[in-house]
Amino acid sequence: MTPNDIPAVEPAPVTVAVTGAAGQISYSLLFRLAAGEVYGPHSRVNLRLLEIPAATDAARGVAMELEDSAFPLLGEVTVTADAETAFDGVDAAFLIGAKPRGKGAQRSDLLADNGAIFGPQGRALAAGAKEGLRVLVVGNPANTNAAIAAAAGSLQPHQITAMTRLDHNRALAQVAAKTGVPVGGLRRMTVWGNHSSTQFPDITELVDADGRGLAEALGGADGRWSTEEFIPKVADRGAEIISVRGSSSAASAASAAVDHMRDWVFGTPVDDWVSVALPSDGSYGVPEGLVCSFPCRSVDGRWQIVQGLELSPAQRSRLDASVAEIAEEWDTVRRLGLV
Ligand code: NDP
Repeated sequence: MTPNDIPAVEPAPVTVAVTGAAGQISYSLLFRLAAGEVYGPHSRVNLRLLEIPAATDAARGVAMELEDSAFPLLGEVTVTADAETAFDGVDAAFLIGAKPRGKGAQRSDLLADNGAIFGPQGRALAAGAKEGLRVLVVGNPANTNAAIAAAAGSLQPHQITAMTRLDHNRALAQVAAKTGVPVGGLRRMTVWGNHSSTQFPDITELVDADGRGLAEALGGADGRWSTEEFIPKVADRGAEIISVRGSSSAASAASAAVDHMRDWVFGTPVDDWVSVALPSDGSYGVPEGLVCSFPCRSVDGRWQIVQGLELSPAQRSRLDASVAEIAEEWDTVRRLGLV
């Protein structure tokens, strides 16, 4: 930032809560937030670091490192184990902390544990956050955790999202490697459905920077490369990284979270879209309220689901399978009385 870049009136600082603040994803995300990579070079950023009591000391250590980085844009940094304190007056929340699946744990146990986290967090957000609140859920199972927070807090559908941007970015990277078209020259990738192994990374509408379709050259969305290599590669990439790196893909998850929130705030190019999981409005036959990943554009600070794409029977069946999984998770949440 040069003096000429400084606007006459500085915008009000943005206050952002990050949960699971002492975890691996947050360890990358917080520094990028403080560097201005989400809200731009003119916005000061206050950070609220929420952790469970056992990890607040670790979060304090992260706060010390943020202080030592001397970020010109960084305002107040607060470390707390209290959700009301963390979410009071926030503009945005990255909900990253979640209960990991324990050895032998059932899916219903995981949903119950996370219901106990995301329900109260949804209520605390509703009670304290600003009107223009933007929530990104990263902690898994992200789609259903987002639905729990939204239902518990009666959040507006436009306030809540879950992250499929990492899947989207992974899909772009795979196509770039296959075609030689750089990721910056690829447009209109879509990841449909749940952030899980049933997700559907879809190349049907993919074009290059000149608007030339790429799906045909790749054998089509229903072709061998897409179904046998591309889709499994994208869906299993997290596990592949754990096996190669020895720990999870935290930095790329944080990077995707930066992309997601930046685009939500500043918009997406008119000739492109990105993948966002948000409460369905019934588009593409996905039952209203289920948190599902769609192709979305950010316009005037709100996500809009791209309308009018024709789905082939093969696309339809992949989307339906993933939506069935989301619906089943939601049924379990209801059956357990978590919302
Ligand atoms: P990470 O920061 O690595 O991950 C946090 C969450 O993000 C997990 O649910 C993880 O899901 C999910 N996630 C989504 N995408 C990815 C990805 N690509 N790579 C890795 N994770 C991904 O977890 P840590 O264990 O390092 O830190 C979690 C922190 O949260 C801890 O400090 C803990 O104290 C805190 N926590 C807070 C809670 C609360 O707020 N009440 C409750 C529980 C923990 P998955 O497990 O499926 O990989």
